[in-house]
Amino acid sequence: MRTSSTRTTVHSPEDETPAREACGSAVEIEGDEVRLRGLAVSPGIAIGPVFLVTHEVPEVGVRHLSAAEVAAEKARFLEAVEAARREIQDLRDHLARNLGEEGAAIFEVHELLLSDQAVVEATTRRIERDLLSAEHVFTEIMEGHERTLEATNNELFQQRAADVRDVKRRVLRHLVGDRRTALTKLPERGIVVARELTPSDTAAMDPKRVQAFATDLGGKTSHAAIMARALRIPAVAGLHCLTALARPGDTIVVDGLSGEVVLRPRPLTLEHFELRRQRYLRLSASLRKIRDLPCRTLDGKDVTLSANIELPEELESLKEFGPYGVGLYRTEYLYLAKPGPPTEEELYQEFAKVVRAMRPHSVIIRTLDIGGDKKPDWMTFPEEQNPFLGLRGVRLCFEREELFRTQLRAILRASAHGDVKILFPMISSLSDLRRCKEFVEQAREELRREGKPFAEKVEIGVMVEIPSAAITADVLAREADFLSIGTNDLIQYTLAVDRGNEHIAELYRTFDPAVLRLIKETIEKGHRAGVWVGMCGEMAGDPLASLLLLGLGLDEFSVSPITLLEIKRIIRSVTFSEAEQVARWALELPTAQQVEEFLSEVIHRRFPDLQV
Ligand code: PEP
Ligand code: MG
Repeated sequence: MRTSSTRTTVHSPEDETPAREACGSAVEIEGDEVRLRGLAVSPGIAIGPVFLVTHEVPEVGVRHLSAAEVAAEKARFLEAVEAARREIQDLRDHLARNLGEEGAAIFEVHELLLSDQAVVEATTRRIERDLLSAEHVFTEIMEGHERTLEATNNELFQQRAADVRDVKRRVLRHLVGDRRTALTKLPERGIVVARELTPSDTAAMDPKRVQAFATDLGGKTSHAAIMARALRIPAVAGLHCLTALARPGDTIVVDGLSGEVVLRPRPLTLEHFELRRQRYLRLSASLRKIRDLPCRTLDGKDVTLSANIELPEELESLKEFGPYGVGLYRTEYLYLAKPGPPTEEELYQEFAKVVRAMRPHSVIIRTLDIGGDKKPDWMTFPEEQNPFLGLRGVRLCFEREELFRTQLRAILRASAHGDVKILFPMISSLSDLRRCKEFVEQAREELRREGKPFAEKVEIGVMVEIPSAAITADVLAREADFLSIGTNDLIQYTLAVDRGNEHIAELYRTFDPAVLRLIKETIEKGHRAGVWVGMCGEMAGDPLASLLLLGLGLDEFSVSPITLLEIKRIIRSVTFSEAEQVARWALELPTAQQVEEFLSEVIHRRFPDLQV
């Protein structure tokens, strides 16, 4: 954490260096104006006063106890836990009223942490054994958990460390008093600037007063990001040193479209962002008008538009954008956010909740895709030289049969509540698909024997994300009900470019002719075998790719909820034959750069109003 003395140095040019160094190259300072670049995690543009949130964890010194004090200390600790638990329940109710049950679900993890006997019992045991104060022992135990989560090298897990910190602070406040910014004092239209925002913070705020969030830490799946999307306010995360540079009451611009944040903007900068804000508002208003209109081209071709979700909390904001189904429900979070494997019952409840909420639309549940960079703490993995080419997705599920069986049983049971389809990740050959289907068959037989209800017809799909699957799409399509192209991985495996390696990020080219040919072949082969072909990789939500994919005959675009209307707007404004022409021309170009330039020219010319 930066000190306030470092903060003041920014304002005298000779002392700018420390702030610049702390922030890396992503900061530009000109006079009093500071520009930072972070991750755009919730769209929109806001301009307003900084409301700086500081959470000092109360100072916890070592306090030794006499044996006679132990019983009272344990009781004091249990009371603090109980008080924290009551607060969490209140916050849950408050959120459920403001955001619905889905929004409140975030606090389930907190309740779980406090009902985790491993944490509570370990603390009381150590108070007794080591004769140390409750706050000291509890802090050590929670910080141990935090470190384990942070060391996982996994974004989702690292962000769950924020939950552990939040729960730790809450209990400590009951043990040693409060030093937190009173979030209830948030000014009208304030912009919340924080190192990180915990679910308790966001729940304590009056959502009507908050205009935007900007945080030093966090990514797309952090709670602040999810909350911002649920509240439909702009947010930028991953700004590293914003809290060190911002002063309460400073004017700040938060651009949740580009990821830019400007502190103390000059008049010209303000004018630029104000214009951008107005354009964005006009664009959003015009897009909202097509919310309930069909996703149909001018010459009458219908295309399915559906949403990618990762967390059930996202369902609320999904409804805002229209009546869509879920084209990809990534289920990893259910495994990563828990201290152990989820039970069949937990999975079933979670899936059934999503399926019921989406009725009458379908929900495509992707089976577990862990391995690679997503590794739950509680699971042991072999040492791998190339984890992305290793035990990942269905390959891992074949090794851990019990895990796979449990998930498939839960998915099938959820099919009793609505239209469920199953999607298998990391399929590299027909034998993989056949093996998956055998597992499904076995799960069906078990459920039948046990008299547990499930839908007899559940479509089975293959993710086409490995080049071998794209090349043999005809073979796979004969034994599947649908194909869904996962471009995030298809691009990395086709071009041999690690999707998470920032050193070669410029080689990760969505529009590489090799990738385009594989997509074209997959769609054609799927159609020839009589199955529909969708796309759930990020490319489906890229406006530049819309006409090309439409023209190649893609049947379903599954995109993140916030891009649904933009994609629909593009599809509704063209004829299918125009899109076919664009696809034909794009496929003739020899380099990714030429394809991108061509598509960008077409989109800018056809849709000038989509530019903000
Ligand atoms: C993909 O690979 O395109 C995809 C949708 O899956 P994930 O990003 O979860 O690997
Ligand atoms: Mg993938």
